[in-house]
Amino acid sequence: MELSEFNGPYFLDQEPEPCGHYHPDVLLFQDSLNGGDKIIRTTFCFKCKSYFYKGIPVDKFSESFLKELTDEGKKVYATLEQLAAFREEKLKSFLPGNDW
Ligand SMILES: [Zn+2]
Repeated sequence: MELSEFNGPYFLDQEPEPCGHYHPDVLLFQDSLNGGDKIIRTTFCFKCKSYFYKGIPVDKFSESFLKELTDEGKKVYATLEQLAAFREEKLKSFLPGNDW
């Protein structure tokens, strides 16, 4: 079975992301400050091959998190290549006993 054939949900009661796909097909890509009052959370969906953006009020985040944002007001979690590798590992881990 190919990893691309998996569509989730990957565990009981898993909630889909707004695009209808599931983690780890959808992964956090970056957070950035938008004018100071919102964090724009960017996720990437490997099924849709698209970025998605969600505004979250800054006060929902801890001060320590906000300090982690760089001078450009941005925090990039990983490159798409790194995310793709993470996703593949994660999908494999959902298949205990499968001989990859
Ligand atoms: Zn999607």
